[in-house]
Amino acid sequence: MSGKSNIQGPQTAGSIPVPLLDVNRGNEPLLPEIMQKLEAICRSGQFIGGPHCKELESLVAGLCDVPHAIGCASGSDALLLSLMAIDIGPGDEVILPSFTFFATASAVTRLGATPVFVDIDPATYNMNVALIESLVTSRTRAIIPVHLFGQCCDMDAIGQIAERHGLHVIEDACQSLGATFNGRKAGSLGSMGCISFYPTKNLGGFGDGGMVVCRDTRLAERIRLLANHGMQPRYYHQEVGINSRLDAMQAAVLARKVPQLDNYAAARAENARTYMQELQMAGLGDAIVAPGVDRRCGHVWNQFTVRIPAGMRDKIRAGLTERGIGSEIYYPVPLHRQKCFAGLCVDPKSLPETDKAAAEVLSLPVFPELSLRELRAVVGALADMLGGISDMRRAA
Ligand SMILES: *Cc1c(COP(=O)(O)O)cnc(C)c1O
Repeated sequence: MSGKSNIQGPQTAGSIPVPLLDVNRGNEPLLPEIMQKLEAICRSGQFIGGPHCKELESLVAGLCDVPHAIGCASGSDALLLSLMAIDIGPGDEVILPSFTFFATASAVTRLGATPVFVDIDPATYNMNVALIESLVTSRTRAIIPVHLFGQCCDMDAIGQIAERHGLHVIEDACQSLGATFNGRKAGSLGSMGCISFYPTKNLGGFGDGGMVVCRDTRLAERIRLLANHGMQPRYYHQEVGINSRLDAMQAAVLARKVPQLDNYAAARAENARTYMQELQMAGLGDAIVAPGVDRRCGHVWNQFTVRIPAGMRDKIRAGLTERGIGSEIYYPVPLHRQKCFAGLCVDPKSLPETDKAAAEVLSLPVFPELSLRELRAVVGALADMLGGISDMRRAA
């Protein structure tokens, strides 16, 4: 931290640098135990699959309230494997948001199918379910609801639409492990759920990792086969799969963190609540739009994403950076505007809320170990930039 004391810019009293995410604070207390496990794995010589992977699969299946979980190499692969398991291919269409991480759409494209982008609800940033049905055609095979930032989509509505049209629902729960909708777990609400253990996720490993969760036994067997080159038994290939494996070291790290997951989510939720209070108290309620929470959802706050309207977002972000305060834009370029998807010929004006969000959102530090002092430094910096109200507060 001391290395950052030479930060340029309008430092105010009590201003301290705040990282967007500090994974070390969460990892540190678990390290002695984790290092022991890792050393044992090194000595065992069994690096792929094995008891640690089995243990993590059963822990995550339990977390998601489903009978099956299949480890794989990443959340991106979990999406790809799920689509492969229902034979998505050329000519098929899959409905998904444009306001998401790239992997949600690239999994569809890699199989030769066509992503069809649906606009978002401006309050939650999740897909606007009222628009889905107008996009369904005779080629539509599946919907991928992305539970963005830690909050589930309206899975009642999506389930009904899917049922009416005979569509699969594959949940992109990469940011939402542990989240609930009407008391039911993310990942158990569609036919398959995709999870990422990338270090910035709520359950983050020491590298890449992912998992598919599902209720159907035959789907689970197919996914396991596809993740291992379609090989069953050894060197006999039933179909063309991919190589997507979870390794024992990641599984051991993640299994040690699973019992902490609820505490992590509770600490994130507490930070989110405090932000909302502090933003109000600082008189920033209008200048900064807090994230909308659907009452039916148990939100796990992978991100705390505010909206800063009126063209101020980039200036505010630059000011935070000057003060040593981390922030990020998830996502600055919606997928329908990515160069690689130009061939999809999406009408650029067809996703107005997605475009608006991309221009206005800013994610603030919300990681579980964020201190109240740090959170107040973030709000104080915003108040300094957006109005003098914080000065009144400080004087009071
Ligand atoms: C992180 C993420 C992915 C991809 O997960 P990786 O493990 O990084 O491959 C997919 N979708 C969403 C919404 C994500 O946040």
